Amino acid sequence: MQILETIDAMRAYRRQLSGDVAMVPTMGALHAGHMALVDHARTLAPQVVVSIFVNPAQFGPNEDYDRYPRTFDADRQQCEAHQVDAIFAPAVEHMYPPGAIETVVDVPSLTDKLEAANRPGHFQGVCRVVMKLLNMCSPMVAVFGEKDYQQLCVIRAMVADAAIPVQIVGHPTIREADGLAMSSRNRYLNTEQRTKAVAIHDALQHARKMVRDGNRDVAQIEQTMARIIEPKGLSVDYATVRNAASLAPIKQLNDPANARALVAARLGPVRLIDNMSLEV
Ligand code: AMP
Repeated sequence: MQILETIDAMRAYRRQLSGDVAMVPTMGALHAGHMALVDHARTLAPQVVVSIFVNPAQFGPNEDYDRYPRTFDADRQQCEAHQVDAIFAPAVEHMYPPGAIETVVDVPSLTDKLEAANRPGHFQGVCRVVMKLLNMCSPMVAVFGEKDYQQLCVIRAMVADAAIPVQIVGHPTIREADGLAMSSRNRYLNTEQRTKAVAIHDALQHARKMVRDGNRDVAQIEQTMARIIEPKGLSVDYATVRNAASLAPIKQLNDPANARALVAARLGPVRLIDNMSLEV
């Protein structure tokens, strides 16, 4: 397995490959959710490149950039075990050289809502780094998790509109045994918070059950989700039902197959997000 630490090394590696590449962009602290993306990537192309880059541009000033878990040795071992061909782990100074022009990449109709309300500038940082990573690695296909559903929608739209020659593949969310979506940030939770965090999954499951039972009243579904989460001591940023493609609010669930329930909630120092399709 190659470890590529500079953009030149990434490009040189890519140039000497004859076959296609499937890329899995990550911020490291790899867990079974990331590795499921890697395993899926392996079925899509003969070479798999995992990028590991904690992207300062997508963290707000009061967010956890400095304390975000950095576990490169363990990440390398996991990639090795999953037959990754190369890790691309550029330094911040390579990705964002001092004095470099700050290109703004954005998909405003998708980045003016949900996560954006709590994380101004977050998606511009995501778009900028994903566009750069795709240009550096030139993969045929890139795999992203549905865990970050709004991010997946934004990246799909950016790639389509900017005509970036890559196929974007979404992968279902990988969960702990009790349903909590795996996340690098779960390690911030203490034992008590970890037990309470499952309320988010319970609320999403309950939303699906309401739809399965015939309920089409979005306001009622949203209130019920919040009522399941809040008594556990979580503070809800949003618990909402949206159009699965545009992420626009909906009042009446005429087409559950095209609707998504999305939740963001804070628990002590941690902000957790999760989502589920309402297709039943
Ligand atoms: P991150 O390292 O958090 O930036 O995530 C890198 C990629 O892994 C993104 O496409 C995430 O959506 C995806 N991912 C993170 N957690 C999970 C999970 N539990 N299941 C599936 N994909 C995930």
